[in-house]
Amino acid sequence: MTFDQALYEQIVRRNPAEPEFHQAVAEVLEAIQPALHRDPGLRDAAMLERLCEPERHLMFRVVWTGDDGRVHVNRGYRVEFSSALGPYKGGLRFHRDVTLGTVKFLAFEQIFKNALTGLGLGAGKGGSDFDPAGRSDAEIMRFCQSFMTELHRHIGPETDVPAGDIGVGSREIGYLFGQYKRLTNRYAAGTLTGKDPLLGGIPARPEATGYGTVYFLDAMLTAGGKDLDGRTAIVSGSGNVAFHAIAKLRALGANPVTCSDSGGFLHDPRGIDLDVLHELKVARRGRLSEYPDHVPSARYVPGGTPWEVPGTVALPCATQNELGEQDARTLVKNDLLAVAEGANMPCTPAALQVFREAGVALGPGKAANAGGVATSGLEMRQNAARERWSFERTDQALQEIMADIHTTCLATAEDHGAPGDYVTGAAIAGFRTVVAAMDAGGY
Ligand code: GLU
Repeated sequence: MTFDQALYEQIVRRNPAEPEFHQAVAEVLEAIQPALHRDPGLRDAAMLERLCEPERHLMFRVVWTGDDGRVHVNRGYRVEFSSALGPYKGGLRFHRDVTLGTVKFLAFEQIFKNALTGLGLGAGKGGSDFDPAGRSDAEIMRFCQSFMTELHRHIGPETDVPAGDIGVGSREIGYLFGQYKRLTNRYAAGTLTGKDPLLGGIPARPEATGYGTVYFLDAMLTAGGKDLDGRTAIVSGSGNVAFHAIAKLRALGANPVTCSDSGGFLHDPRGIDLDVLHELKVARRGRLSEYPDHVPSARYVPGGTPWEVPGTVALPCATQNELGEQDARTLVKNDLLAVAEGANMPCTPAALQVFREAGVALGPGKAANAGGVATSGLEMRQNAARERWSFERTDQALQEIMADIHTTCLATAEDHGAPGDYVTGAAIAGFRTVVAAMDAGGY
């Protein structure tokens, strides 16, 4: 590694057994090296150490009752990482693998991503090791209510504004918001984003992360003199981000031929059928493996990942470290042009290295999937102004924000001697913004 080894080791010691957090920190420390070389003052005042130490960790017990009367205990988390630029902002993840390290890495990523949006958003992330799979609506509601019974005292429109992430969509946000309202006797709509429009949510928030990832991918291709038309797209995941990325890819003339879930992947050479996917995954919360029952030309491959399917653009939209070195080699061998990360940190460091060496354009999650939190920022604005935005207005604003982020990343990378390197550009642009605000606010 070429970066501050001593600082990195100190962070590892201080945060034991949190490999994803270590990985996220290492990636940023590496990517910002050109900025540190140019401006050694950035190392002063323990700036890097401050940047890597969350302002506050919250951990709490969540007790809830199953439909069968059994009592369950889960752990809730909220890491309030940085308030340099605004209220803590970031999603909640409900997944059985969630640990403090997961939440911390996600909150850390959020610092740079949120800075890139230019909307005055600090950074946080939360969640629980609660496994929503197979739980009834009533169980989800009771879990959300119990989770909020503790969380409510720590959040608010000017303090900390949670939203969704894996396992948390507008249904969960609705239950969380309802409980917040009950406990505080305040209709503070700006306390949570990703709400149903009935509760003050902004239209296009569900679409925003997936659409934004495709807008970013399109901008990368355009910058390289290419476009999306007719491109075969390899997409992973089948949740909110993947679904809307597939929809936007189709709308822009590309052919998304894969998606995946935790059991395997689906390949439909004619292009993923959105109606079937919606019916299976959204309306029925069912399994992707049933898709070939509706579309005989498709095949579901249990245990596999979609990266073995040839395509010219790849959009990992499932979860962290889902695309490894061997996957990257296979994709490159199949003439991959560009990757846009719809998920947070989906490519392993070794995979990133393979893409870098092959000259593949790589849109890091900090930039490529910033459309979700950016639209949350717009939702906060809508709530503060007591307005109702239209879908078109929101989508237009999202497109402008993604275009700005793309321009910023390219210009920053160029300015730091790394032309075309979006990973470097995104990290340095986010870093410079947040560090300037930390400096201005004193310590
Ligand atoms: N969970 C999303 C992300 O990873 C969105 C967070 C938000 O809207 O606050 O950026």
